[in-house]
Amino acid sequence: MERDILEEYHNAQNHLGFHRVYYQIRASYYTRGLAKRLTQYIFHCLKCLSHQTSLEQERRLGIL
Ligand SMILES: [Zn+2]
Repeated sequence: MERDILEEYHNAQNHLGFHRVYYQIRASYYTRGLAKRLTQYIFHCLKCLSHQTSLEQERRLGIL
């Protein structure tokens, strides 16, 4: 399923921020609303929540 793909890429990239994971997925697997779903997935990733690093940085830069 789609969520598994998001999880697989995201975890494989050691919970990197949105953009690196996004572009990698998009390169091999594109679907409508991917950006939104990936954003939501990362926001709900427990490991990311406990770190709050990459998303915070990107949010601070005004990317998201
Ligand atoms: Zn994560």
